[in-house]
Amino acid sequence: ALRDPLTKAFNKKYFIDQLRTEFSYARRHDTPLSLVIFDLDHFKRINDTYGHVAGDHVLIEVAEQVHGVLRTEDVFSRYGGEEFVIILRGIPLNDAGVLAERIRAVTEQHPFMSGEQRLPVTVSVGVAAYDAKLEDPLALVEAADSALYAAKEAGRNRVLLKYPEP
Ligand code: GH3
Ligand code: MG
Ligand code: MG
Repeated sequence: ALRDPLTKAFNKKYFIDQLRTEFSYARRHDTPLSLVIFDLDHFKRINDTYGHVAGDHVLIEVAEQVHGVLRTEDVFSRYGGEEFVIILRGIPLNDAGVLAERIRAVTEQHPFMSGEQRLPVTVSVGVAAYDAKLEDPLALVEAADSALYAAKEAGRNRVLLKYPEP
């Protein structure tokens, strides 16, 4: 089982395996590699207001929207409860930022419904890219995660890029 049963995204174990492989490849061949990480904004509120079943439905639909904007070779995985990651092989930081913005916009615009009620669903997104100074795959995850944290702090429903340290 490589996939999360709810969202059909790849699971965390598969993500970690693929990230290791892609990180080594990028290092060996000096090719671009980006990581996008996103987390639903105020998702606890959605669960608390509309119920866990409605929340699950939101996760399913977010994943459908994201699958719709990705290429087949992009590795889209469920990293945690309402947190997802995408490995973009061969894609440099700024292009990954463009894709991340597409994911943010598609989520903001999609009409998520619970009965007659439209649910306010947005995502915050962090993006980082491989560079020679990153020690290991975990450092790439940490870089993207710090950008995600900054996106939350800056007000949510936005994309932030983590530029490499000089
Ligand atoms: P923030 O904008 O800071 O991310 O706020 P948040 O409310 O999204 O963050 P928090 O981490 O406080 O809450 C995440 C919520 O996601 C809590 C948890 O109940 C919910 N969640 C995690 N996994 C699932 C799931 O599989 N289904 C549903 N319905 N909810 C889930
Ligand atoms: Mg959240
Ligand atoms: Mg979270």
